[in-house]
This record gives sequence, structure tokens and C-alpha cells, in this order.
Amino acid sequence: MNDATDPATTTIVVVGAGIVGLATARALALAGHRVEVLDKEHAIAQHQTGRNSGVIHAGLYYPPGSLKARMAVAGARSMTAYAAANGIAHDICGKLVVAADERDLPGLRTLAERAAANGVPAQLLTPEQAREHEPYVRCVAALHVETTGIIDYPAVCRSLADDLAAAGGVVRLGVTVAGATPRPGGIRVLTSAGEIDADALVVCAGLYADRVAEACGLAPEARIVPFRGEYFELGGDKHYLVRGLIYPVPDPRFPFLGVHLTRMIAGGVHAGPNAVLALRREGYTWRDVDLAELRESLAWPGLWRLARRNVVPGAREIVRSLSRRQFAASLSRLVPGIEAADLHPAPAGVRAQALRRDGSMVEDFLVQTHGRQVHVLNAPSPAATAALEIADHIAGHVERALAS
Ligand SMILES: Cc1cc2nc3c(=O)[nH]c(=O)nc-3n(C[C@H](O)[C@H](O)[C@H](O)COP(=O)(O)OP(=O)(O)OC[C@H]3O[C@@H](n4cnc5c(N)ncnc54)[C@H](O)[C@@H]3O)c2cc1C
Repeated sequence: MNDATDPATTTIVVVGAGIVGLATARALALAGHRVEVLDKEHAIAQHQTGRNSGVIHAGLYYPPGSLKARMAVAGARSMTAYAAANGIAHDICGKLVVAADERDLPGLRTLAERAAANGVPAQLLTPEQAREHEPYVRCVAALHVETTGIIDYPAVCRSLADDLAAAGGVVRLGVTVAGATPRPGGIRVLTSAGEIDADALVVCAGLYADRVAEACGLAPEARIVPFRGEYFELGGDKHYLVRGLIYPVPDPRFPFLGVHLTRMIAGGVHAGPNAVLALRREGYTWRDVDLAELRESLAWPGLWRLARRNVVPGAREIVRSLSRRQFAASLSRLVPGIEAADLHPAPAGVRAQALRRDGSMVEDFLVQTHGRQVHVLNAPSPAATAALEIADHIAGHVERALAS
């Protein structure tokens, strides 16, 4: 008979080979469990994790005491240490949040207060001081955050998968999970490759988190709404304009950070991402449409409530998506001299954002236990930064579920 409290005899299935699923699988395997990761794609890190900005966030944006704040601050440290220990390309290059004009000043001061409350070292700068870090910014003030960095998240995932394999775990690709049902002493996972009997199930399905949760018998209070973020690559002759990371002061009504300039760890400078409704969950262009998924997004009352409250910023995002000139105008507010002709399309990403029926966004990370199942229902940015911390948090949920 299987003793669920003895790691050596427990089998745990993890759905999703993005950074959250792989980090969690690694943590569980290092604790001695037999772990099997399943992903519907034929390679790891194919969705959010492989299509993000590649930033190690320092943790200044998030409400003090939230999981995001605690896990981003700790995660920036643990991710940096993990990268250093495993030879993964990264650079703690620092970032500048720029108040382009007087209207941005209250928001910048709020960010400085949040940084202090979260224990993130950040310094308010005059325009002259800001230009010592980024010589080409135009601003009335700026906030310099020294612990922000850039990293190769797909390389982190490859390393996590290697650690998992070394601890006896496996990753099975091309396997779609259709649902799960309880069975005596455990759980039966229904997959495109047949049924798997496990002691516990962890679901880190990103853009399909709510769908998989429903198929496993949960009734999540929020739906995943996919927001595409489009990027441009800055032309090589303009790279000199950006040394590290240059961000605007975010609009507090919006959960996204605003289009920014990001030096990438593999070289080059990315501009973006904006935020527009994706017409399918893994829809990376305007032409990528899934009518059933779109109908599902549009039938969710929360989306309409969110849209009504954000008519102006929402419309601005769509215009910016359709007009490279507008995109360049947003960037040149931070760094004058960036023009439409300097921007070359780069692959987009889609954010999985949980949205409640009343139109409010689920701001914090959200993990829910249901019997022997643990579901990650909201893991937007900075979940890549915080992945090692989220993994420990989920592993704690799993151990408690196994013991109960
Ligand atoms: C545009 C953009 C920019 C971002 N920038 C940053 C950043 O700079 N720094 C940062 O910290 N965070 C950033 N984020 C957020 C970060 O990328 C995500 O929070 C993180 O990658 C989430 O990881 P995940 O493993 O939960 O999801 P994912 O990486 O999306 O992985 C989910 C996996 O589940 C699989 N899956 C789904 N359904 C099933 C099923 N039924 N059966 C089997 N497999 C399934 C998918 O194929 C996928 O591989 C950004 C996100 C986006 C989109």
C-alpha cells in the first residue's frame, strides 16, 4: 500500500512545462517525490515563459504584504542566485522608471514609497542624475532600481528540467490533460495519452488554468482573459539610446506596466509590450482567432465591466497596436528620437490574467487546493521572477494535501 506521507512512494503529476510547473516539479522531486510533468506542446516554455520580457523584477510595484511583493523580492534574489550557480546568462543592470512630465510625479512618488515598504532599494533622481544611468532619457524625475535585471528564462527552464531529471523526475511532452477525478487514496488524471493514477496533481496551466480547473471539478471564481503584449525590436543604429531598462510610470488603473524599453540578455533592445485582448488564448497576432474561445471571453461579464471602466486606456492600447507611429510616440516620450521606422516587429506574448465576474482583476498570485489537487489560478508577471518561491509555496500546499 502507498503511504502518501512517504515521498519515496508518492507520484505527483504536474501539468504545464512553463517556469512555474518546472520549478514546482523540481522542488517536489528534490523533496523525494516521483514527479511527472505533462505538457501539450512538443517543447518546454512555449507560452508565457518563452515569450516574456526576460526581466528579473525587483518587486517595487506590488502592494506590501501581498504574495507578489514578498515572492518578487525573494524571487529576484533566488532567481539571480540560481542563474549564477547554474551558468545561466543574466545581468543585474538596474532600471529607471521615468516621470516624463509633472503628471507622472504622484505615481512616481507612490512607487518610491512602495519600494521602501517592500524593502527594494530605489533612489529618486533628478533629470541630471537619471541621465548618468541612461544618457538619452527625457524626464522631470526618475526612480532608479538597482536590483532589477535581465535573464534568459528559457535557459532557466532547461536547467530546472535537468535538475528534475537528475532527481528522477520526467517531462512528457505532447500530452494534453483533459481533466481529473478522485479515486480512493489519490487522483486519476485523464490525458490524451491515457489515464495516470497519482497521489496528487498540481496544475500550472497558465492560459488554460481556469479551463483545466473546471475539468478537474473546481469552480474558479475568476476566468482567464488573454491579453496579448506586442513587441518591437529597436533598430541596431538606435541601440545606443538604451543602456538597461527604461519604464514609464504605470497607469494605476491598469495591471500592466506600460510599453518600456528592455535590453535583452541575448542582445538587442525590445520595445513593448502593449496590452490588447487576444482573440484566442494562445493568439499571438490579430489574425490568430478562435471563435469558441473569443465567444467565451466575450460572454464573461467581467470583461465588459473592465472594458467600460477602461474605455480610454483600452482604446489607446488598440490604436497603439494598429499604429507603429503611436507605439513609437509612447516610447519617444521616454527617450526622444525613437521613430516608427526604428521599430521592427518581434514575437508577441499573451498574458494569462484572471478576471472576476465584477470586472476586477485578481491582482495577487492565486493558488487553490481541492482535495489532492493544487491549482495555480493566477500567475501573471512577476511569476517568472518569483518562480522558485512560488514553487516552494505550492510544494507546501501539496505536502499538506498529502498529509490530510
Ligand atoms: C508579454 C509578457 C511579458 C512578461 N514579462 C515578464 C517579465 O519580464 N518578468 C517576469 O517575471 N514575468 C513576466 N511575465 C510573466 C511570466 O512570463 C509568467 O508569469 C510566467 O511565465 C507564468 O509561467 P507559467 O508556467 O505559469 O505559464 P506558462 O509559461 O504559460 O506555461 C503553462 C504551460 O501549461 C501548458 N498547458 C496548458 N494547458 C494544458 C493542458 N490542458 N495539458 C497540458 N499542458 C497544458 C502550456 O502548454 C504551457 O506550456 C510576462 C508575461 C508576458 C505574457
